[in-house]
Amino acid sequence: MNYYIKYYGCDMNRSDAERVSSILESLKYKKTSTMESADVIVVIACSVRQGAVDRVYGIFRKKKLKKNVIKILTGCVLKEDAQKQQKLFDIIIDITKIKSIPKLISIPPWRNKQKTIYNYKPENVNYLDIKPNHSNNFSALVPISNGCNQFCSYCAVPYTRGIEKNRSAYSILKEIKKLPKSVKQITLLGQTVNSYISPDNTSDIKDFGDLLEKVAILKPNIWINFLSPYPTKFDDELIKIIAKYDNISHHIHIPLQSGSDKILKMMNRKYSSSQFLDIVEKIYETIPDANITTDIIIGFPKETEYDFKETLNVLKKTKTTLVYSGLYSPRFETLAYKMYNDNVSQKTKRKRDEIMTKFIGKQSLMRNKKYQDKIVKVLITNKNKKGEYLGKMQTYETVKIFNGHDKYIGQFVNVLIDKCLEWGLEGLE
Ligand code: SF4
Repeated sequence: MNYYIKYYGCDMNRSDAERVSSILESLKYKKTSTMESADVIVVIACSVRQGAVDRVYGIFRKKKLKKNVIKILTGCVLKEDAQKQQKLFDIIIDITKIKSIPKLISIPPWRNKQKTIYNYKPENVNYLDIKPNHSNNFSALVPISNGCNQFCSYCAVPYTRGIEKNRSAYSILKEIKKLPKSVKQITLLGQTVNSYISPDNTSDIKDFGDLLEKVAILKPNIWINFLSPYPTKFDDELIKIIAKYDNISHHIHIPLQSGSDKILKMMNRKYSSSQFLDIVEKIYETIPDANITTDIIIGFPKETEYDFKETLNVLKKTKTTLVYSGLYSPRFETLAYKMYNDNVSQKTKRKRDEIMTKFIGKQSLMRNKKYQDKIVKVLITNKNKKGEYLGKMQTYETVKIFNGHDKYIGQFVNVLIDKCLEWGLEGLE
């Protein structure tokens, strides 16, 4: 019996896919790379972006699936999207209930009685205790919480994953202690990862800073990253901890979303552009080599050229080197969907995105130039179709090497940089 998993969206969904995979393998299902050969297909969907939602509708089109295949929908899914996609799937469950997959797929003749089990209500984070089946052996995603309390007006997450639930520090550390020796990099995951508060009464770990420090001490030779933080949750203590340990990455991804105070307010982000600048300034004061990257939503309702320029202004002042940009698309249930018209045209959104990409490219090149003729440590992550090897520095710069070897994938390699570009660096091992 075979299973096939398709996930969309962010690292949290990827991490969830690793847990679903582990459940199915415990039932002796084997992973397959084609839907056609699968007996169980699991789609871990993402309602956060319209593009990702649209892709699910066509997922089985022109596919000759097995007659008795069981199709499961889970992930970060809004109720409205799940309802619309109901016809495509046999089982729809929220991600916090994936432990019930073995029972659900084993009840004969469940399909005749009730085609779709529909009870989408995120609960606790016990599902995070499932031992994941890591998608590669050198990089481990470790979720520490699920859900979000921020209710940014555009965001579906508080409705798809529910309010924030923190995982026991004991359970997190247990998972980390058991990671295979081949793991070179750990990423602590949460929707607002740095708002973590341990639910354990007995633990000496109280907040995210304590947890990060503990992990850094526990795994001194492993690079430690975290995603995604909320700007105002970067307190002085946390910044000092990041600076104190060599193995904690100095890549700071700090989502700005917009540089306009008017738009930030409409987004229900709980900071102004000047507060954001103060936080980044503190980060640079304590961590001078920090590599700042961010998320920006382009074309939020009522975003004018002036507002967009304000965003570029903040990106300039923060010397941001990479932006994960998303063109605004209204999501059901969210406040922005109910309150504002999506009044910025797609053409304008795309034009602003292009301008921003060019702008960021220049800033990235400026930072990258400092590595010219330097030797940098790189974790090689993959080989592209041209046979070149790609990897990341601890500060997240992409490095391409031309004289690599398959055995380097998943290993640290010292690279002499001979070319600095906007997208990254090139060199020889
Ligand atoms: S902080 Fe805002 S954007 Fe991030 S997951 Fe929570 S609600 Fe969504």
